[in-house]
Amino acid sequence: MKLFAIPENIHPATPQYGAYTFIYSFSLILGVTLSYFTFYNFFITQMYLLAYIELFVLVLTLWMAVDLRISHNVERSSWLFVIMVVIFLWLFAFVSNKPYYSLIWTAFGSIAVFFLMGHKKGLMVTLVYLGVLFAIILSMTPVELPMRSTINIIAGLIVLTVATYYYELSRHAVSTAYEKALQEQRDYSQKLERLSTTDKLTQLYNRFKIDELLAKEFARAQRYKSTFSLILVDIDYFKNINDTQGHQVGDEVLVEFAHLLKASLRKSDSVGRWGGEEFLIIAPQTDTDHATQLAQNLREAILLNDFPQGNAPTASFGVSTFHERDTLITLLTRADRALYAAKNSGRNCVKNEEELD
Ligand code: GH3
Ligand code: MG
Ligand code: MG
Repeated sequence: MKLFAIPENIHPATPQYGAYTFIYSFSLILGVTLSYFTFYNFFITQMYLLAYIELFVLVLTLWMAVDLRISHNVERSSWLFVIMVVIFLWLFAFVSNKPYYSLIWTAFGSIAVFFLMGHKKGLMVTLVYLGVLFAIILSMTPVELPMRSTINIIAGLIVLTVATYYYELSRHAVSTAYEKALQEQRDYSQKLERLSTTDKLTQLYNRFKIDELLAKEFARAQRYKSTFSLILVDIDYFKNINDTQGHQVGDEVLVEFAHLLKASLRKSDSVGRWGGEEFLIIAPQTDTDHATQLAQNLREAILLNDFPQGNAPTASFGVSTFHERDTLITLLTRADRALYAAKNSGRNCVKNEEELD
């Protein structure tokens, strides 16, 4: 188990990732230094107030880091961290000894706020932070702080805050551009994946994809000693449809036929266009009898279907089932031979490998 874990779905180029590393690393630094100073101020200098403050912030720091690690709520942890930093910096700045050199540390407040909260929310919080800080500093002027120091501190903090704001703005622009590019890349990959695996006309899997699925199912059956069946479907006298009604109508029949096949199959079955007017169905965990029954159901569904193109086509089916000693070629050859037998038996029928000579 990783101590400083960041969820995998958070990419290193995102502000959330930055917030994680920021909180984790500063918790570590603060944890170590505060442990030391708590001990030092308690036992050596015996400045008890300071020691208690440091102990309080130490506990807060550890709690916050553990909370982020467990809940992964970056938003809440960011708020906690900012509040803690503000408390710590101010206590540190105003409790420690005069002449308040420690005020320089309050600059870290603006940086932490912008880094953790982004440029928009960060700006609001920083304005409040600086507003209160300036009010405190001004109330100490000129009795505790000379006017020149106050002007320098305020001007310095404003310049630093403006610079940090623009730095954060550019970080935001980069991460937004990155997110956009990533999304486009994802969309493009998805589109490419779909195009490369889908048959353009029928929208079923193309030969490339169905070949891949077939190889996978074959490997699975071999590995787990399970079985599966293939059904090869070929539309009867399809050439006649093209010849009498035209290629366009032939295309429409193919599309309708493909829809029908797809709609009649279970989700676990796969169907693809094997070529021309021939389709291949892969039926996992299905023996010859059940695959034959499935093919009969499909054959009847085709007969019952009302093809808008007129003359309803029929189809012939060849069924083969995986056996332990099969290769892809022997398995496919048996389906092909069964289909050929169905064609020879007058078409519009189903033949399986058990009916072959
Ligand atoms: P059988 O019953 O023996 O299967 O006869 P058939 O006419 O269906 O078989 P054949 O193999 O002689 O003809 C198949 C026809 O399918 C020939 C080809 O032009 C047509 N074809 C293949 N792909 C497409 C396509 O995408 N669109 C159209 N319209 N026709 C196609
Ligand atoms: Mg045909
Ligand atoms: Mg054919």
